[in-house]
Amino acid sequence: MLQVQNISFGYTKKTILDHISFSVAQGEQLSIIGESGSGKSTLLKLLYGTYDLPEGDILWKDQPILGPKYNLVIGYDFMKYVAQEFDLMPFISVKENIGKFLSNFFPEEKERRTTELIELVDLVEFTDVKVKLLSGGQKQRVALARAIARQPEIILLDEPFSHIDNFQKQTLRRNLFKYLKEKNITCVVATHDREDVLPYADQMIVLNDGKIIAYDTPENLYKQPEKPLIASFFDEFNTIKASDLNLETTNASVFVYAHELQFTKEAALEVEIKHNYFRGHLYLIEADFNSESIFFYNNSPLNINQVVNLKLTETAKKRIELQ
Ligand code: ADP
Ligand code: MG
Repeated sequence: MLQVQNISFGYTKKTILDHISFSVAQGEQLSIIGESGSGKSTLLKLLYGTYDLPEGDILWKDQPILGPKYNLVIGYDFMKYVAQEFDLMPFISVKENIGKFLSNFFPEEKERRTTELIELVDLVEFTDVKVKLLSGGQKQRVALARAIARQPEIILLDEPFSHIDNFQKQTLRRNLFKYLKEKNITCVVATHDREDVLPYADQMIVLNDGKIIAYDTPENLYKQPEKPLIASFFDEFNTIKASDLNLETTNASVFVYAHELQFTKEAALEVEIKHNYFRGHLYLIEADFNSESIFFYNNSPLNINQVVNLKLTETAKKRIELQ
């Protein structure tokens, strides 16, 4: 179990992280989300022991994680960290980089393990290529493979797929997260991609202004986002007055995801179409409601300036009235 107890930190007098506490059980995955500059990378670096903590404690299985004041060499064997700027050895091959920390006493085992890892991150055809010749995304794959090579107990990933193109991202993400679960490796991921979070995270925290403003399962936060920052992480959403939707809720206004609005013939939200955005399987439609933009989906584009009525889907009504 990773335990983070009331930690605070700043590079200068300015506080970056302000009394942060959370815990992650063995084998679980925690996602850290928040806007750029909210302190996600700083938090991961603290978990790794990169800096000394002015306040609070970080423990892995009751062992304190200590900073450079107490550790000559930063980091611990049981923990691996893949930084946003992954640092690899440019002049040796993919295979050598990945095998770097594997023991040479068992050459066959080393060979088998390296091959397995190269396959996991889908770099077979680059096995003997020098790392300096790889693209950013390929380097990121090498960094990920190297981090899990010696099967750490806990792994810290900073935007692990940010350099990897969409063609391959989904497969790599599935392979990696499945692998970590199978091996019961605890994982903390800083990300701004909901695809890293929704299907994989057991818990997530949302950082804002140095504080944790939400800490729950992705499903609970998706269903009850409470703040615009949280809803916007998941999907296109609208803030609508509860009275405009005839909702039974004590909240004056509610968050409605774009996919939760549908056409109706009844008098409901009357909106005027302004713009169609092609989104692949659907169009995101921007319309005007009382001089404010409102977003919803439709399977075909709509005529600009056309007036239509929208209402909440039944599922959305239930979701929102539960809040
Ligand atoms: P995120 O990863 O969420 O984008 P960071 O943890 O990188 O956020 O940064 C949080 C804040 O700390 C930012 O305001 C950033 O400018 C500042 N910061 C990050 N690294 C350093 C550093 N080494 N020295 C001083 N300030 C830093
Ligand atoms: Mg960062």
